[in-house]
Formats: sequence, structure tokens, C-alpha cells
Amino acid sequence: MSQAYPHLFAPLSLGSVTLPNRVLMGSMHTNLEEAPNGFARMAAFFAARAKGGAALIVTGGYSPNRDGRLFEVASVLDQQSQVAEHRQVTDAVHAEGGRILLQVLHAGRYAAHKACVAPSPVRAPINRHTPRELSDAEIERTLDDYATCARLAQDAGYDGVEVMGSEGYLINQFLARRVNKREDRWGGPLENRLRFAREAVARTRKACGPDFIIMYRMSVLDLVEDGATREETLAVARAVEAAGASIINSGIGWHEARVPTIAHMVPRSAFTWATAQVRQAVNIPVIASNRINDPAQAEAILARGDADMVSLARPFLADPAFAAKARDGRAQEINTCIGCNQACLDQIFAGQVSSCMVNPQACHETEIVLTPAAQTWHFAVVGGGPAGLSFAVAAAERGHRVTLFEAAPELGGQFNMAKVIPGKEDYAETIRYFRARLSRLGVEVKLGHRASARELAGNGFDQVVLATGVTPRRPDIAGIDHPKAVSYVDVLTGKVKVGPRVAVMGAGGIGYDVAEFLTSDLGSTEAHIDAFLAEWGVDKSMAAVGALKPAHDAPPLRQVWLLQRKPGKHGATLGLSTGWIHRLQIQKKNVQLLANVTYQRIDDAGLHVRVGNEARTLEVDHVVICAGQEPLRDLEADLKAAGMPVHLIGGAELAAELDAKRAINQGVRLAAAA
Ligand code: NAP
Ligand code: SF4
Repeated sequence: MSQAYPHLFAPLSLGSVTLPNRVLMGSMHTNLEEAPNGFARMAAFFAARAKGGAALIVTGGYSPNRDGRLFEVASVLDQQSQVAEHRQVTDAVHAEGGRILLQVLHAGRYAAHKACVAPSPVRAPINRHTPRELSDAEIERTLDDYATCARLAQDAGYDGVEVMGSEGYLINQFLARRVNKREDRWGGPLENRLRFAREAVARTRKACGPDFIIMYRMSVLDLVEDGATREETLAVARAVEAAGASIINSGIGWHEARVPTIAHMVPRSAFTWATAQVRQAVNIPVIASNRINDPAQAEAILARGDADMVSLARPFLADPAFAAKARDGRAQEINTCIGCNQACLDQIFAGQVSSCMVNPQACHETEIVLTPAAQTWHFAVVGGGPAGLSFAVAAAERGHRVTLFEAAPELGGQFNMAKVIPGKEDYAETIRYFRARLSRLGVEVKLGHRASARELAGNGFDQVVLATGVTPRRPDIAGIDHPKAVSYVDVLTGKVKVGPRVAVMGAGGIGYDVAEFLTSDLGSTEAHIDAFLAEWGVDKSMAAVGALKPAHDAPPLRQVWLLQRKPGKHGATLGLSTGWIHRLQIQKKNVQLLANVTYQRIDDAGLHVRVGNEARTLEVDHVVICAGQEPLRDLEADLKAAGMPVHLIGGAELAAELDAKRAINQGVRLAAAA
């Protein structure tokens, strides 16, 4: 048992099976399920997580029939002929000593295709298709399909199934009056509405016998109007326990909920208090989930009795060895999921295979492989931001000798700016991770050292990697040198204290971040949980329907205008899964949005602009310039002239659309090929 985390590394009995620890790798649809060669890639993906110490793994969702598939070509498990390919996955996980459950997910009215079905024909706000109402006979058949799917999973070697009853999918749709308008034995009183959930579990148990693990993922908080009350939630938990569930997992919020539930601005452990309520109502183990990304945090959840196990999903994209590192006293080397959603959910929504911003190898295990280098080199890496750090660590892992130069006194580059934005505190964890890995791998780090071309060309280095990043763009506007005009860097590093009225020039990712920094101090640490719940209208007593109550918005810290030159909606370039949250956050803080702006000048009166044809003066104390970036690659020409092989990565290569996802990815891929 781990000395540091005794609760986390205590065994857990699930009847016939004893798990070695309390760490579940929760379900994520990665699009590998549908990708060419997907089963071989999933086998490598899940095997790495089993090897990395996850006691139990849940696959992405498989529909028990064609009606319930998530989208037109999404995966279904309903035929014996499909069993063999799943064997690749289960065999690979078992070979690493792990255990794996298949998630059975019928999407109901969330299915993004014309043939979607639901208890009642009530269209979901996040789907353009209106579902067809299921008949009584079709409901019976669908329940049998759950049992058949589980039986096929058992044949394929899975240790059990997770019956997906949360997030607003079919089972949830039966449970909630919001969607279930039926007046037959499947609708009306709670006893009827929960019949479907109970039958899905009972028929699965009957089909698969007493030793098969049945995890039921229940909606602990619906966070939608006409969702469940506390009594209804607890009744569901008791009903699925009685029907034969081995363990209950937590789901938080339907997909259509307007409350953030997993993104970086959600405080760590924000919802485990709700799981604790369920745990008190049943006698089977209960799992907490959402924004759990750190072993000490997980230990605390278990120690205070909120849950018997913790579910980490995205953290296993960020680091396959999360559990093993925690167990072995190497928590400092855990690559922490920072809740950005940029490479996982946003890529899924864009129809791509998922990955991870801080770990580009995730779901690409067979493509990006860090084998020992056949020939080793001495690399000079210039720049200790995300791109340089990622190359340095990956190259050192392959056995190359690496010396890293950073002009600033600390590592991290632009992440040092991100980490001070309220809700982005976890970005500091990425810097901590890289620092720990550099140290373990013996990379020589020269901080506060601006390397010259002469130094780089003359000290025995074989190759130079320029990861020198970006410099903020200074737009050519009259008055840009006025003391009121300040760079976002000076604001976020605390060099400039801005006044109570501020214009933000540029509404890209950084403009939004700065607008939030200037108006709110609501962070994502556990100390902010109650304020977060109040701000987003979550009823901690769970007494209200859907656990919702009127939101209480703390007043903005400053009056802010957010400006863009282009016409149209603000925030169009923000992430698909987080943009709506950023837009709501600044709306809550009464940030004034101005589009179609022409900048005229900055002077003592403030910022003079034209909005369309109208001249306006914004009487502000400061104008924070967030107008994008220019690449910094001064050394390139001299190094090339000296005959040094030079590689450009990150913002130094391309500042437009610069983001850390591309920077880290480039660093790892370059190292994999070096
Ligand atoms: P950005 O997203 O490219 O936005 C810069 C904005 O400045 C543009 O939207 C542009 O809008 C404006 N602009 C460009 N040139 C200008 C000029 N000469 N004068 C005045 N305005 C000008 O860049 P960023 O905000 O610096 O962010 C950099 C990258 O970091 C982004 O690509 C993003 O991937 C990443 N990031 C993302 C997030 C997030 O998603 N939450 C947060 C931080 C950073 P107009 O021309 O319309 O005014
Ligand atoms: Fe976590 Fe971001 Fe990686 Fe997704 S992309 S797993 S949110 S760090």
C-alpha cells in the first residue's frame, strides 16, 4: 500500500473481483472506436493505461442497437461477428494485469442521426433531429438489446459493463419528466420512469451471471430544468443496487446543461459532495468523478468518505501512468490534465481522433513512439516554453543529450501567463511536470541565460532547436506609446496595475482570458467550490428540481470593453467545448462587446474608436493590447550561416494560430524523429 495515499491504494472488493486500488479510468469516446485500425490502436491505448496502474478501465460508448448509436457511423455491439475484434483490446489489457469494462451507451435523443428514438418525441437543444417515440414493444426489445450487448461483451473478454445512465442519454431521458411525457407503464410516477433503468441492469445481470461487474453510471446531478430531485436521485441509486449493480459511478450534468462540469474553470472536486449523498443511500461502492486530476486530491475525497473510488478520464490521456507514479512516490512526475479540452473533446467534436494537449502520444501510441535513439546527439534547445520543454523531455527520454537555454528566470513561457488567469491555475502543473522530468532525465537547464548564436554554434552542439516563442504584436495605432496602452504580458505578470475601467484590444483567446482576469477572481481550486456553485446556480442541497437555483453573479472587479475589428460574433475562435463558457462568463461580468471597430488613437481621454460609422471615445484608464503575436526567431539566420542544423518549433515557427497544442505536439514529434 502507498504510504502517501493509503485510501487510494487500498484494495476494493467487487464480489468476485478485488481491485488493487481505487483508481478508475473513466469512459471517453476517443473516435478510435470508428477509426481505421481502431481496435489495434485501442489495444495499445488501453494497455498503456493498465500498465500505468489503473485498477479498472471503461471503454468509450458502444450502443446496444443501431437506433442508439451516437452518430451515423458510430460503434454498435450487437452481433457475435463483432466479438473477435474486441478481443484485441481485452487481451492487451489483461496481459498488463488490468481489467476493462465495455460501456453500453444508448444515446436516445442525443443520437446525431435521423433514426434517433426517445421515450417521447422531445427534441434535444443540442440535436437538430427530433426523436421518434418508442413503442412499448420497442422498449422491451431495447432492454433485451442491453442484455445482449453485455453478453457479447462478456464473450469478448470484458470483465463487465458500464451501463450508461447519466449525461442525458436514453436512460436519463426515461428518468426525467423533462423528456419523458409518457402516460403508460414507462412514464408518470417515478416508479414507472425508473423501470427502464432497473430493467436494463436486471436483464444484464440475468444474462451475464453473478460474477460479471455491472457498473451503473447514474446522473448524480442533472443540472437541467425538470431534472431529478434529490429523492428521485437516491431512489434510482437504490433501485439499480437492488437490480444487481456491483458499483455506481457518478455522472454530473446532462450534455445540454448550461453549467460547466469538466472544463478548467470548474474547481477540482466541485461535485463530490453530491456523490457523497448517493454513497449514504446504498450499500455498494460509489465512485466520484469530474475534475479529479491529482493523487492528493483523490486521497482526500476517499479519506473524507465522499466516495469509495475515484474516476479519472482525461487525466489518463494526459498521463497513462498516473496511478503507478502516485503509488511509487513519483507524483511530481505526473503529467496533469489541465482541463483545457483542446485536444480531447474539441478534436472529438471536430470529428478527429482524440488526443491530449499535454501528451500528444495519447490515442496515437502506435504512431508517436519514443524508442531509444540509434544515434544520439547533443541538442541545444533555446526556449523553455511548452514547445522547448516538450522537445527537451522527449529527446532526453530517447537518450539524446539535451541542454536547455531559457532567457527568463523561470521555465514555462506563455504558460506562466495562463496560470494566473482565474480558472487556469492548473497550467502551473504542466510546468511542474516538465521541471520534474527534466531533472529526472538529467537535462542541463540554463535559466536566465540568453544564448547567442556564437555560443550555440561553438560548444559541441550537434543541432539546435529554436523554441524561442513569440512576442506580443504592437499594432500601428496613434498613441500606442501612451502610458495607458499596456501589453497583456505586463498586466498578467503584475508589472502594471490596471485601473477600474479597461478596454481590451483583440478578442482572441488571450483577449478573453484577460477580460476574465480583469473582471473575476473565481479560481479553480477547491477553495472556490461554493462560489462557483453559487455563480452557476447549482443547489448544493439538491432539494430543487435538477439541483438548479437562480445564479448569484459576483459583481465584476472592473468595467471592461472587449473589442474586435472584425464584424460579427465575439469568441468565434474559442474552443468548441469551452467557448460557450467563456462567452457566458464575460456576459455575467457585464463585459461590453464591440465588433466592427476601427482603432483611431489612444490619449489622455482614453481609446478613440469608430464602431461601424459611429465615433466613440471609451474613457478608460488602460487599453490592454491582446492583438496576437509575432514569431521570435532572431538566431535562425546566424546559426544557419554558421552551418548549424536548426529546427524551428512552436511560436518561433508560426505565431499565427499559435497555441500550446501545436507547440507541444511539434516538440514531441520532432524528438520522435530525431
Ligand atoms: P488570436 O487568437 O490570434 O487573437 C488576436 C486578435 O487580435 C485577433 O482575433 C484579431 O482580431 C486581433 N488583431 C490581430 N492583429 C491586430 C492588429 N494589428 N491590431 C489590432 N488587433 C489585431 O491571438 P491571441 O489571443 O494572442 O491568442 C494566441 C493563441 O493562443 C490563440 O490562437 C489560441 O489558440 C491560444 N489561446 C487560446 C485560448 C482559449 O482558447 N481560451 C486562450 C489563450 C490563448 P480582430 O482583427 O478582429 O480585431
Ligand atoms: Fe486534459 Fe487538455 Fe489533455 Fe484534454 S487535452 S486530456 S483537457 S490536458
